[in-house]
Amino acid sequence: MPDIRPTVGSGALVLNATYEPLCVVSVRRAAILVLSAKAVCVADGEGILHSARSALPVPSVVRLTRFVRVPYRTHVGLSRRAIFARDGWRCAYCRGPAETIDHVFPRSRGGRHAWENVVAACARCNHTKGDKTPAELGWRLHALPTAPKGIAWRVLGHRAPDPRWADWLDLREPEAA
Ligand SMILES: [Zn+2]
Repeated sequence: MPDIRPTVGSGALVLNATYEPLCVVSVRRAAILVLSAKAVCVADGEGILHSARSALPVPSVVRLTRFVRVPYRTHVGLSRRAIFARDGWRCAYCRGPAETIDHVFPRSRGGRHAWENVVAACARCNHTKGDKTPAELGWRLHALPTAPKGIAWRVLGHRAPDPRWADWLDLREPEAA
């Protein structure tokens, strides 16, 4: 294995041989794929990686030289960061900056911890809401919460995309439910 000292830590997008986005790996891992001829670099990042024998531009996007079959996760994991990312870090009730996670139908009354029942909320709305439903307060949700979909979510999760990856990822906003 080459001795690679990573100088940039942002990660590289890996495409299948068919150019379909697969995942994000460390820059070091992407460089090893390129140096071992398992992938070719299709977009450079910033900087140079130095190995014992050679120097390689930091890979930003690499494409596998052989097609791999990948079983996809069909749903995005429900994490705090993923919920904030889905909701744009805005409160689902007042659109102010969100700091908390709210269960729309309260957990204390049997509400599920699921994409369809969680929203980002500001502390004030969350506190005021307590164990009531939005309907009981006469509140409206900005949008009905749904599980995030789309290739960018599958590949990136809550990770912010590198602008250099935009050509390979469908980065349009998911359509409102
Ligand atoms: Zn709020």
